[in-house]
Amino acid sequence: MSDKYDLVVIGGGPGGYVAAIRAAQLGLRTAVVEKRGALGGTCLNVGCIPSKALLQSSHHFEVASHEFAHHGITAKGLAVDLKAMMGRKDKVVLDLTQGIEFLMKKNKVDYVKGAGRIAKAGQVAVTPMEKGAKNQTLETETILVATGSEVTPLKGVAIDEKQIVSSTGALALKQVPKTLIVVGAGVIGLELGSVWRRLGTKVTVVEFLDNILPGMDAEVSKQMQRILTKQGLEFKLSAKVTAAKAGKDSVTLSVEPVKGGKQETLKADVVLVAIGRRPYTQGLGLKEAGVELDDKGFVKVDEDFQTNVEGIYAIGDVIGGAMLAQRPRTRAWWRSRLSPGNPATSTTTPSPASSTPGPRWRPSARPRRR
Ligand SMILES: Cc1cc2nc3c(=O)[nH]c(=O)nc-3n(C[C@H](O)[C@H](O)[C@H](O)COP(=O)(O)OP(=O)(O)OC[C@H]3O[C@@H](n4cnc5c(N)ncnc54)[C@H](O)[C@@H]3O)c2cc1C
Repeated sequence: MSDKYDLVVIGGGPGGYVAAIRAAQLGLRTAVVEKRGALGGTCLNVGCIPSKALLQSSHHFEVASHEFAHHGITAKGLAVDLKAMMGRKDKVVLDLTQGIEFLMKKNKVDYVKGAGRIAKAGQVAVTPMEKGAKNQTLETETILVATGSEVTPLKGVAIDEKQIVSSTGALALKQVPKTLIVVGAGVIGLELGSVWRRLGTKVTVVEFLDNILPGMDAEVSKQMQRILTKQGLEFKLSAKVTAAKAGKDSVTLSVEPVKGGKQETLKADVVLVAIGRRPYTQGLGLKEAGVELDDKGFVKVDEDFQTNVEGIYAIGDVIGGAMLAQRPRTRAWWRSRLSPGNPATSTTTPSPASSTPGPRWRPSARPRRR
């Protein structure tokens, strides 16, 4: 089957779906290819939205547990019904991802369920998700790569999403662990560490650097560490995790000082690996299409979000920089595409870290000049 589009977007996350909707509103025949089985990408399915849903629920529990009495409110028999809490989170995710699907229909964007691969400039091959369905080739004037990012693995630590989890597993634990070790004191690790700490888990954060929230203003990071420590999080800084062994009921971590010294072992019910995210370009055919990547695997783009291959653009986490859903890149991209002479330079974006308090800083969201 062959279809001709003006724009085919690969990836239905915040980078991809916003661009697709805007393109369709501007009169372009547009398709989005998504292989997850739901639109909304990392952000809506396993990122921003479920983490904020759990942050809100755990915040209510914390306030009811520790602050009500001070206000003269007695709440007896407070308990966490984790199944119900997770159920609410799943419902929030479902409502929002279905909302995006509705927006696709409303704006007449074709939602193609499958894995997209660039066959060549102007052609996207789709392997459908549905068993028995035929492969498809979408002909298109322009391709937009918006395939996002995935969890960066840690050498010696195999993620099983049960005992040793990534952020995805940490958003779906079946019971409140007694102890949790978070490897990585970045935004995601601290956010999810805060969720489980509020629900009663003893949380230890192990960080390679000598400060938390790398990239954030040093004074803010210092104050955040002080506040989070007061709330009950423990920090082990300048420490390197070298191995993890999952046993029947717990995980044993080997940890050593970054500067060298005695190795120690730490034990926890669950270990969360949150050392960062890397571009997701697997099976996309970028290399074969001649699209250049940088040394970290991010797709190289110019100020108009164009790769080195004419007709192939890229946007969102896959091009690096501040990996945030809220970056105004999409708008900038379309402004530049549709209004020649209007450069796509985006402004800065406030960056979130949704523990309590939630510090804000402004990483540069400008695409890198190359
Ligand atoms: C736990 C967590 C919390 C976060 N919280 C925040 C927050 O509070 N605020 C914020 O701004 N950001 C937050 N983020 C970051 C945010 O989720 C990302 O920056 C954002 O989702 C990036 O959007 P994207 O469209 O570039 O990629 P993604 O959202 O990753 O979407 C890419 C999509 O492409 C699909 N795909 C990949 N390859 C193919 C292929 N070959 N064919 C078809 N489909 C493909 C994937 O399945 C995926 O659905 C958080 C992330 C995590 C993990």
